[in-house]
Amino acid sequence: MCILIIEDEMKIASYLVKGLNESGYDAECVHLGLEGLEKLKMNQYSLLILDVMLPDIDGWSILKILRQFSKIPVIFLTAKDQILDRVKGLELGADDYLAKPFSYVELLARIKSLLRRQQYFQENELFIGNLKMDLTQHKVWRNNLLIELSKKEFSLLRFMLLHQNEIITRRQIGSEVWNINFDTDTNFIDVAVRRLRSKIDEGHDLKLIHTVRGLGYKIMVNL
Ligand code: CA
Repeated sequence: MCILIIEDEMKIASYLVKGLNESGYDAECVHLGLEGLEKLKMNQYSLLILDVMLPDIDGWSILKILRQFSKIPVIFLTAKDQILDRVKGLELGADDYLAKPFSYVELLARIKSLLRRQQYFQENELFIGNLKMDLTQHKVWRNNLLIELSKKEFSLLRFMLLHQNEIITRRQIGSEVWNINFDTDTNFIDVAVRRLRSKIDEGHDLKLIHTVRGLGYKIMVNL
């Protein structure tokens, strides 16, 4: 699938298309906001990179219109690096934000992470291997067998699935799942992960939850 870039600065635009092509992505660029919106209506893109200051219609307005018909991930690219703009963009439904001048490596990392998340997240379901999580019904299956999880275990697993293949620290789990920030006494997180792991991995040859020594945990298909 193709990445669309709406950016009126020709130099940045062609630099991005070239970079993305070299990184193995198809990329298209338009220089006007309305032209971009037309393309987004007519075609399927996997991600949008959107500049804020454009000659015809600004990035905020594009995002507002876009969100009425599409959930495509959007990364704002803008010279306006003030915190208020950032908040505005995220409130309007942007998925990420990069201030110019930006590093291509950082942009690429964010694109990858957004695309990965998108890939796992379809129709309110999350997947890894033969495990499926239904976010609307609050149910989890492994190999089509229903697994009973407590509310917290469900939240913990959802958080892990949204960050699969990434190292998740105990601190992140504490703050995301239990809404607490602390450095010490993280033992109960280990206990909770162990319990979750026994529920989803026990009896299966293929283990999904892995301990990353000294760092935290990782959920992944380790073949
Ligand atoms: Ca611009």
